[in-house]
Amino acid sequence: MAEDLDPFDIALQQLNKAAKVMKLDEQALKLLSQPMKILQVSIPVRMDNGKTEVFTGFRVRYNNARGPAKGGIRFHPEESLSTVKALAAWMTWKTAVVDIPLGGGKGGVICDPRKMSTGELERLSRGYIKAVADLIGPEKDVPAPDVYTTPQIMAWMMDEYENIVRHSAPGVITGKPIENGGSLGRGDATARGGMYVLREAAKRTGMDLSKAKVAIQGFGNAGQFAVKLVKELYGSRVVAVSDTRGGAYLEDGLDFDKLMEQKKSKGTVQGYPGSKPITNEELLELDVDVLIPAAIENQLTSRNAANVKAKVVLELANGPTTPEADDILHKNKVLLVPDFLANAGGVTVSYYEWVQNQTGDYWEEEEVHKKLDKKMTEASKAVFSAVDQYKVEPRTAAYVVSVKRVADAMKLRGLY
Ligand code: NAD
Repeated sequence: MAEDLDPFDIALQQLNKAAKVMKLDEQALKLLSQPMKILQVSIPVRMDNGKTEVFTGFRVRYNNARGPAKGGIRFHPEESLSTVKALAAWMTWKTAVVDIPLGGGKGGVICDPRKMSTGELERLSRGYIKAVADLIGPEKDVPAPDVYTTPQIMAWMMDEYENIVRHSAPGVITGKPIENGGSLGRGDATARGGMYVLREAAKRTGMDLSKAKVAIQGFGNAGQFAVKLVKELYGSRVVAVSDTRGGAYLEDGLDFDKLMEQKKSKGTVQGYPGSKPITNEELLELDVDVLIPAAIENQLTSRNAANVKAKVVLELANGPTTPEADDILHKNKVLLVPDFLANAGGVTVSYYEWVQNQTGDYWEEEEVHKKLDKKMTEASKAVFSAVDQYKVEPRTAAYVVSVKRVADAMKLRGLY
């Protein structure tokens, strides 16, 4: 099996593996092997130089048997329909594994936001919503931020949607600024949700997190909060962190505030006072208890998986492990917590934002944390119990849990 498969092929491969294990009905598998709706749009945008450029955008509704579709919008130069389809499928499994009443969707625009002015970005964001307005809505399909899209972009998008429908509809999109109906607790939700899952994984492996050494790849939204929270909640020692430019290793542990200072002043965590510089490749193979990939996809592959020494791998990033690496880690008894469980905290708090928007009743941050903990704990227990029941690795087990929930909802609707 090649490791350069296209993303949707990988998503289907994972689904087929789970379908076999759980003996999924053939018709259900057929229904779950393709998106329900694909929309491709051309978005004309007047650029600052007065010329019009035409951008290509997508919105994919993968499945809505359990509720309105949910999934972010990426602005990326290498965006493709295959990536959007794969991400929409993964969103379907993610909302199902945490058992929230939503389906899966995803959107994207082929563009390079780093080369666009604020005005151009606003016009592109509004243009995208104009183009996909028929497909989205609080009861249909609810987008959110993803790679290179921000709360500000969500606010423009919500405003554009409300201009079109001519009434207030904050539940059309999540990840909004607090001032526009965003939820407290959304900022660190992905990492925090991952921490609750890590606690359950540690219980399963008999690991004492207060004595654990942790390495984290990536120092963005997910990675930064993971550094902060693993220390704050469990007293673990983060010995290594990296970003695109390299990493820093310090046996005594890296301090979150000092890492932020280093990143701000030097643009990279490498060079943290007293630390040893390491590469991203070295970070993955360190002698630690917990490894948290929180950067990009395809980091653990058939080339390096056998060298992983961590006992638990918590995938905060989407798709950091290839299918071959999955098998190697499983054989070596590394407990890998799969992405769509480990990083589901983000979509769970997005769901809470949507609930608050739909009811007009806004919650305190503590309430969000409490509800998130309960959801992530229940999801972890369901996945680990499927690991024991089906004797499979956690990724397949998580698929089994999710696919069953979606398939049951489709069956009861009479879809097969
Ligand atoms: P981000 O852009 O804020 O940060 C990404 C980090 O990864 C940066 O520190 C960057 O320097 C680093 N990075 C990029 N390429 C790298 C490389 N080759 N080697 C090492 N580091 C590299 O992104 P984010 O929001 O933190 O997302 C990170 C991952 O988590 C992505 O896979 C994303 O899909 C996933 N995720 C994020 C959220 C969320 O709420 N932020 C939710 C679910 C999943």
